[in-house]
Amino acid sequence: MDTPVLPRTTLRPAISRGERPRGLYDLTLPELEARIVELGFPAYRARQVWSWAYRQLVSDIAGMRNIPAALRDALASEAPLALLEPVRTLSADDGETIKTLYRTGDGHLLETVLMLYPDRATVCVSCQVGCAVGCAFCATGLMGLARNLSAGEMVAQVVGAAREARQRGRELTNIVMMGMGEPLQNYAETMKFIGIIHDPNGLDIGARRITVSTSGIVPKIDALAEEPLQLNLAVSLHAPGDELRSTLVPINRRYPVAVLMEAIDRYIAKTGRRVSFEYALMRGINDSDETARDLADLLRGRLCHVNIIPLNPVDVLPYERPEPAGIERFASILRAAGIPTTVRYSRGLEIDAACGQLRAKELAAAS
Ligand code: SAH
Ligand code: SF4
Repeated sequence: MDTPVLPRTTLRPAISRGERPRGLYDLTLPELEARIVELGFPAYRARQVWSWAYRQLVSDIAGMRNIPAALRDALASEAPLALLEPVRTLSADDGETIKTLYRTGDGHLLETVLMLYPDRATVCVSCQVGCAVGCAFCATGLMGLARNLSAGEMVAQVVGAAREARQRGRELTNIVMMGMGEPLQNYAETMKFIGIIHDPNGLDIGARRITVSTSGIVPKIDALAEEPLQLNLAVSLHAPGDELRSTLVPINRRYPVAVLMEAIDRYIAKTGRRVSFEYALMRGINDSDETARDLADLLRGRLCHVNIIPLNPVDVLPYERPEPAGIERFASILRAAGIPTTVRYSRGLEIDAACGQLRAKELAAAS
């Protein structure tokens, strides 16, 4: 039987079972140049395509007006733009937080959150559908890992957020890898993604405006220290000692606190960069005065900063957010011990903006 011929103008990639959809956003500029030359067009066309994709933020290859129609058709069929389909957009905080639920080409749901602040516009990107780490308080961790996202699926989230920002007269400035998934367990695609959004011919996001957040995958923290780009590293600590941390962040059994801290010290020594520690504060779990003092003892003398995130409660999980006075008390103990500390209330509580929460509700409603 003859192989069926796909229509040349299709915007969606052809996906067979188990095959990951790939598109234009998956290609670095040199990769696109090489492909365009193979297709018989001059390499400079790649920069023009990138300008449409990342400066004009067009959502359709047909809109790339100075690109020859034959090249547009070829790209549309083999490197389409539409990798993710927006399913729903919700906003909160007087429109300053915009959350988009996307469906991948092979039917998975994922989430991206854009947060507008007076001085910056930050997008929180998902790097996996689900997560294998399984932290006790995290909606994403509940579902296990379905699959890694490709670099292009991460770029598509950033471009979508850049469009949303521009519609509001703003430009996207910052990227945080704090959506669904563990970026250091999808290392190669995450680094490729960062290379694409950092490229000055495209979105041109400075390395210092990109933050990678990890639950503490020690060998990959060492790998990150060797990368040429000076990214920000955030480590999700959540507890100062092994007994508690292993119950909250199960990867701690493989990479206990002391081993993690050694890796962070190597990272700081190698890069000279300050590391952020994320600390999801949970009532009666990790919020006692003694725990605060243990945390201060652990971190004292390190080039670091603590971000306390008062817990976003997840419906089906037993963990709760402490009262405001308890949150301030915990922070003040750290500050009194000389540890720079901020309390970061997460945005969009009423739209379940914490990673994985909207997706979880969408699935529950559909079942
Ligand atoms: N997997 C990576 C990055 C994504 S999670 C990591 O764990 O670092 C981003 C941050 O949100 C992490 O610090 C994570 O621990 C935290 N987080 C997850 N669920 C949360 C919740 N329900 N409330 C508050 N913070 C949460
Ligand atoms: Fe995975 Fe991060 Fe959630 Fe832990 S907190 S389960 S590492 S996404």
